[in-house]
Amino acid sequence: MLRLGHMSGLVLVIEDEVDLATTLEYNLRSEGFQVRVAHSGRQGLTSATTDPVPDVIVLDLMLPDLAGTEICRRLREQDRTRDVPVIMCTAKGEEIDRVVGFEVGADDYVVKPYSVRELILRIRAQLRHRTQRAEGEPSLIRFGRLEIDRDAHRAWVDKDEIALTALEFRLLHAFMSRRGRVQTRDALLSDVWGIDADVTTRTVDTHVKRLREKLGEAGQYIETLRGVGYRFKSDPEEADA
Ligand code: CA
Repeated sequence: MLRLGHMSGLVLVIEDEVDLATTLEYNLRSEGFQVRVAHSGRQGLTSATTDPVPDVIVLDLMLPDLAGTEICRRLREQDRTRDVPVIMCTAKGEEIDRVVGFEVGADDYVVKPYSVRELILRIRAQLRHRTQRAEGEPSLIRFGRLEIDRDAHRAWVDKDEIALTALEFRLLHAFMSRRGRVQTRDALLSDVWGIDADVTTRTVDTHVKRLREKLGEAGQYIETLRGVGYRFKSDPEEADA
């Protein structure tokens, strides 16, 4: 059995491979989660909107009746499920940037075959993020060696203040407020620069590079996901992927 500490929450698993779904259900329950399983897309959509609405949805991309992308899109259209984090399970080589991008809007993804442990870490990151949102984040946010003051727009690494431009600060804040979640270049462009900004996704990479350099040792908290975008680590102690 996995030992990762306990955090309750209701997880909906939408997965047509019965053996895999059963394994996930068993392991998630062992970890203290409540679990609902749906073996088809339509069943999954119904289950997602049934009270109580799940806290996290683990969604297989390849389902026999409805594509996972379509399910995710429909979940985003409904008020009740709009903010429920979705972790998409994809096969290697599928268009991950499309899955986690604006087009579909998944919050994170795992590539099959994934380890149950990995999936549970991702689920916990989503739940933690939800709790933080619900409680409202304080102005001072600490993360390992890094500390930022949201209101004063100041940042420190190991207590030394880092001089950041306004844009770099917004970028860092966008990363830190979505710890453990995939952030595509397009999403960052929209959130940090504004959707109408006349800049390309290359600009994002340039600024992330500069931000990382300024952060020094703390720059390692920002992971590059090749072909997808970036992810700020969910925990400072998280090992490199
Ligand atoms: Ca499948």
